[in-house]
Amino acid sequence: EVVVVWFRRDLRLEDNVAFYHAVQSGYPILPLFIFDKDILEQFSQVEDRRVQYIHEHIVKINDELKKYNSGILCYHSTVSQVFEQLTDNYLIKAVYSNEDYEPQAIQRDREVASFLQRKNIPFYQYKDHVIFRGGEILKQDGTAYQVYTPYAKKWRSLLTENHLFDYSVGLEKALFHHFQSDIISLEQLGYRSSENRKITNEIDLAIISTYDQYRDYPGIKGTSLLGTALRFGTISIRKCVRIALKENDVWLSELIWREFFSQIMYLYPTVEKHCFKSKYEGIKYRNNEEDFLAWCEGNTGYPLVDAGMRELNATGFMHNRVRMVVASFLVKHLLIDWRWGEAYFAQQLLDYDLASNNGNWQWVAGCGCDAAPYFRIFNPTEQAKKFDKDGSYMDKWVPEWRELYYRQPIVEHKFARERALEVFKEGLKEY
Ligand code: FAD
Repeated sequence: EVVVVWFRRDLRLEDNVAFYHAVQSGYPILPLFIFDKDILEQFSQVEDRRVQYIHEHIVKINDELKKYNSGILCYHSTVSQVFEQLTDNYLIKAVYSNEDYEPQAIQRDREVASFLQRKNIPFYQYKDHVIFRGGEILKQDGTAYQVYTPYAKKWRSLLTENHLFDYSVGLEKALFHHFQSDIISLEQLGYRSSENRKITNEIDLAIISTYDQYRDYPGIKGTSLLGTALRFGTISIRKCVRIALKENDVWLSELIWREFFSQIMYLYPTVEKHCFKSKYEGIKYRNNEEDFLAWCEGNTGYPLVDAGMRELNATGFMHNRVRMVVASFLVKHLLIDWRWGEAYFAQQLLDYDLASNNGNWQWVAGCGCDAAPYFRIFNPTEQAKKFDKDGSYMDKWVPEWRELYYRQPIVEHKFARERALEVFKEGLKEY
């Protein structure tokens, strides 16, 4: 007899709600991870830093569990096949996992739940990835917030000690199913390893405590770099919020943005493909493929835009200020559909998260909930002067930018600005 703990976006043993409850059950725990073939098909590159990141953390959990004569049972298969096999091989008392709010994950979990129900096996799911899930923070009239500021205010007012409980359990107190697990190698999964940079799951207190002062300057290491850890759950959100409350309120407000977009995706799943504000579907984008390629490769002639895209391509990370500038440049200056940029980020970002990426792209494009007004068009040169004053960020990624004959801008700012205003105005009128 075992209880299964199925790890997904929560790749840690510390402060993990599902794992905590499985320990409480008193049955031997069988930890499980599935390299889901249905998901991996979408990660088409052989060097995917995210698959590698997941793999590293599965190995880490396995090494930890070896000390208790156990491990993490690891499959490379489809979810339905794995559960068929597991229920044939083990007497399963229950399956424990943490909730995942992405539309495809919700569908997958529904199918697993009904399969397990047919076998009379309870499927317990817990809130672990967020402090408040979609539907918990609602307006007086019971509807969802579509604007961040009142949402954040309500979020703060509802927060209690209970939401920040530390679910860590001493592993020596847990009962594990005894077995030895050899984790499938990255190569067997069909991937090559590359250098994984810019990822941490440690909170640097010096950075958090000065976050409000330095977060906007890409040349300075002024942000936590915890996006990937939060995405894959190698750090607990409760731990981050506990620290944010003590150290820096502005950092807390960023963690609340993450929950704001998570609830939007959960409550309005059509935003995955469509503008939140439907009249923006009327914008006639130019969608020029050559311009798009120049943007992807960091060859637009605007050094801050190029630096951002080159940083992204080289490391899988881009500073938030620069993400806003490159996204605005793509949508407004080049008049390329935000969905193209969103898809490119989804492919490249280590911290890629469906809800945050989509929410931020729609914010920049003006079509999201609580979005920037369409006539707000960043001037990439002015942004560079303001946020990379000494040019150190651009020096790092585009060393040639100071040369007099640095690449011609692919589009002149003033012209692009006026063209964008015109196209947006027309598109909104016509729809
Ligand atoms: P910090 O500044 O230290 O913030 C801490 C955490 O708060 C982040 O790790 C993240 O989890 C959350 N956070 C911060 N800002 C935001 C925000 N604006 N929206 C939602 N959550 C936020 N963030 C992602 O996590 N995944 C994405 O795929 C993603 N795509 C983006 C696309 C665009 C066009 C833009 C403008 C922003 C995007 N962001 C995304 C938000 C933000 O840029 C990153 O979260 C941040 O740069 C990550 O760096 P950090 O970990 O050092 O964050």
